[in-house]
Amino acid sequence: MTAQDVRVRPPPPVPAWQDPAAGRRPEPPAATLPQPAVLPEPAARRPADPRGHWFMLAVGLLLVAAALTLDGYVTGVTGETHAAPPAADHPSAELARARRGGPVLNLTAGAPSSAHPAGRTIALTFDDGPDPAWTPRVLDVLKKHGAKATFFTVGSKVAQYPELARRIVAEGHELGNHTYTHADLASVPGWRLRLELSLTQKALAGATGLHTTLARPPYSSTPAAITVPQWEGMRSLAAEGYLVALTDLDTRDWARPGTDRIAASALPSRGRGAIVMMHDSGGDRRQTVEGLDRVLTELSGKGYRAVTVTGALGMPSAHRRADGMDRFAGTVLNAAQRAAAAFTGALSWVLFAAGALTLARLTFFAVLA
Ligand SMILES: [Zn+2]
Repeated sequence: MTAQDVRVRPPPPVPAWQDPAAGRRPEPPAATLPQPAVLPEPAARRPADPRGHWFMLAVGLLLVAAALTLDGYVTGVTGETHAAPPAADHPSAELARARRGGPVLNLTAGAPSSAHPAGRTIALTFDDGPDPAWTPRVLDVLKKHGAKATFFTVGSKVAQYPELARRIVAEGHELGNHTYTHADLASVPGWRLRLELSLTQKALAGATGLHTTLARPPYSSTPAAITVPQWEGMRSLAAEGYLVALTDLDTRDWARPGTDRIAASALPSRGRGAIVMMHDSGGDRRQTVEGLDRVLTELSGKGYRAVTVTGALGMPSAHRRADGMDRFAGTVLNAAQRAAAAFTGALSWVLFAAGALTLARLTFFAVLA
């Protein structure tokens, strides 16, 4: 803008009493006060349309509600906290057969079938992550031994830490779906089960551009431990197109039984192949990381190879390229999840500060009184 431009529009007439050059009187004389109607008023001072205020308030409240809902939905996602209950019930013939079968179940078509890993093949699996403290340490140990593994990720954590999901894929490991909030699929309605699965696929698509065909229900363990309600949940997983990956060897590392016990329970006997269940999230995983290092050292001495779940079964990878729409939706979901977490984090600090100030004020007045 040049000085010429400034002069194009003459300034509004300044009343004599406001013009600093016109006089030095500090107060205008009451008699010469101009009427409000003729006062030149800047546009910004005009009261805005009150409907605009209500609209902004409604949008603001909606955003706050959305952030609280999204963050509240995933709050308390902790991972395994209790052992799978013993399967002491009356199973159908199909479930009875599945309990005696292999750890990877295909319930998608016809009669249920299951598969075992090949001999001297181990498929290490890590549930409940990714976790910023422990997943990188697990990945470092796997890399040190040239081992591949499968990560049954929780979608809300993928949304929170997409870079960890990308690292898992970049280092040649496989991703599986472990629901969005670590929901117990044996006890949720069908719509929630489908939401948990599809949100996780969106989060994976946003983070890595991939979908997965493998799923592991939270709170599952070996086939022998499948309960009747869990079996129903697994059938629903299959109806959504997933292979259900359970485990042969459950280390129960989430209970922190000690590095020795974790390592011992992860070793298959007599050269058998096995899927091994461990966790890379849900608390202090130091014992898991140490146990993993020990297991891989022992197994490589026995001629084992450590591969992904589909690799252990001689199947093609579980990864499928997500379409552009899902990748976009996933990117938005992941950004919204992180924004919601940041917002509620900030909100709790504001509430904390307000509480502290109130307390300080009360104390101040109590001292004065
Ligand atoms: Zn889990």
